[in-house]
Amino acid sequence: MSLNGQQIKQIIFKIAQMIDENKMYLTELDAAIGDGDHGINMSKGFQAVIDKIKDDNGDNIGDMLKKVSMALIANVGGASGPLYGTAFMKAGMWVGNRREISIEDYYNMLLEALNGIKARGRASIGEKTMVDSLEPAINELKVSIDNKFNELECLEKMVNSAKLGMENTKNIVATKGRASYLGERSIGHLDPGAVSCYLILKTIFEEVKK
Ligand code: ADP
Ligand code: MG
Ligand code: MG
Repeated sequence: MSLNGQQIKQIIFKIAQMIDENKMYLTELDAAIGDGDHGINMSKGFQAVIDKIKDDNGDNIGDMLKKVSMALIANVGGASGPLYGTAFMKAGMWVGNRREISIEDYYNMLLEALNGIKARGRASIGEKTMVDSLEPAINELKVSIDNKFNELECLEKMVNSAKLGMENTKNIVATKGRASYLGERSIGHLDPGAVSCYLILKTIFEEVKK
């Protein structure tokens, strides 16, 4: 796998499109255990992202990802804005002025993103947040890379792991974010941020596979 800035830009556009298509779904999930705005927040944020990077030539991946980050932080009203914003910022800082990325780079960018989210949200795995789909996915990616699996297989395993983590948020009590106000009553519901995070990883995989 080798992705250049133009390809990464296309992936970000696809993510924006996917978020828009899932806007109502994400908002319904959030209505059950939060304040019912996750889809709206994300969709508004990614529309702003598109505006911000549409003229970017992709020559500097780090700078482009920083623009994504700033658009999310400035335009997503909820908790997810600063968290996803931090994720893209950290990934951008790691990638710097590399002109293309390998699967190992992708792993490192995601790891930086995860650590940024965890630090910003003071969250760890098992608290019913986006961390619950992202962290197992990254761990799976690392194991797959170390096992020297074919790259698409690595990404597929990773997405499957994100899906399991996302599904498992149904079984746990929220201890971070608005859903934590519900305590035990958050059980039985998927975490909207874990779902959006899984969908983003899946979109990236599907684009790379093309
Ligand atoms: P808000 O809760 O402010 O309305 P959103 O609805 O856009 O924001 O996003 C909610 C999602 O953000 C949750 O489903 C969860 O995945 C994530 N989240 C909330 N608080 C935290 C936190 N402290 N750490 C990690 N993720 C969090
Ligand atoms: Mg919300
Ligand atoms: Mg809100």
